[in-house]
Amino acid sequence: MRREGAGADRLDTVRIDLHAHTTASDGTTAPRALVDEAVAAGLDVVAITDHDTTAGWAEATEAALSAPRPLSLVRGMEWSCEARAEPAGTEKDGRVSVHLLCYLFDPEDPAIVAETERLRGERARRLRVMAERMATDGLPVDVDALFADPGRVPGRPHLARVLVDHGVAESMQAAFAGPLSKDSPYYERKSDTPVEDAVRAVTAAGGVTVIAHPRARSRGALMDMAQIVELAESGLAGVEADHLDHDVDDRAYLRDLATRAGLVATGSSDFHGANKTVRLGAELTAPDQYAALVQRANGIDVVGTRRASADEGA
Ligand code: AMP
Ligand code: ZN
Ligand code: FE
Ligand code: FE
Repeated sequence: MRREGAGADRLDTVRIDLHAHTTASDGTTAPRALVDEAVAAGLDVVAITDHDTTAGWAEATEAALSAPRPLSLVRGMEWSCEARAEPAGTEKDGRVSVHLLCYLFDPEDPAIVAETERLRGERARRLRVMAERMATDGLPVDVDALFADPGRVPGRPHLARVLVDHGVAESMQAAFAGPLSKDSPYYERKSDTPVEDAVRAVTAAGGVTVIAHPRARSRGALMDMAQIVELAESGLAGVEADHLDHDVDDRAYLRDLATRAGLVATGSSDFHGANKTVRLGAELTAPDQYAALVQRANGIDVVGTRRASADEGA
């Protein structure tokens, strides 16, 4: 699974970013504009992975098909899940939040439709509770304005933006470290899907799954790495190794884990437009890992044909 062998140099010029958010969830770039940004960033493959929704797929697909140069669009989603916490962890109930990147699954699969609808409701309930606690406490938060756009799946970045715009927090980073953090009195937990259920559902719907930023400690306690090995046996396809929230040791750890568990190791930006500082294409997935991932999917096709595919017969 290493980037070696004939043709590797040529294929290394293929730029693949498999994790990006749009205005369908908590990014600030519309799905069509994400495609424009991908072209501008010199990407050959980009994935749209909004939180708990596929609402951005249609617009992104249309844009990818009429892009000024060949661009492959991988239709995906980042599913809000929960997993077993590290054995050494101090989480009260031993459960932690984990994000599951899901690609190329049938978006009309009834189980996925029903559970993501529940999750979107849960996100709205949770964010409203947090916003109301802040408003009651005298913070300048207009709760109804937060939900004025029905086209987006609500997330803490939307509330963080309000706090920054009103000068309550100096930056998005500061908002997340303060009033929006898990230790804040305003914090409200949401009820997410057991990760093993999500892996099973996506696999059954023809898709492939990758655990997003599994060692991003800044977001809270980590999941039990042993559960990743267990999930590999029930269909999990990969782990996201190259992510800005991982240091060099985390990345090396995950590559080794991927090799041992027969998983693909991906790398991606987790682009959120102006809601984060990271740029599209800041982290990339190796072509061989991308090929292995796509090969395991049989739900829906990648939109468009990436530049290198014509000379890949070699
Ligand atoms: P939620 O899904 O509503 O719990 O919010 C989590 C989202 O906030 C994820 O998409 C993260 O990428 C984003 N996030 C977490 N920490 C930060 C931060 N320090 N700055 C900007 N966005 C963040
Ligand atoms: Zn997000
Ligand atoms: Fe995430
Ligand atoms: Fe993300």
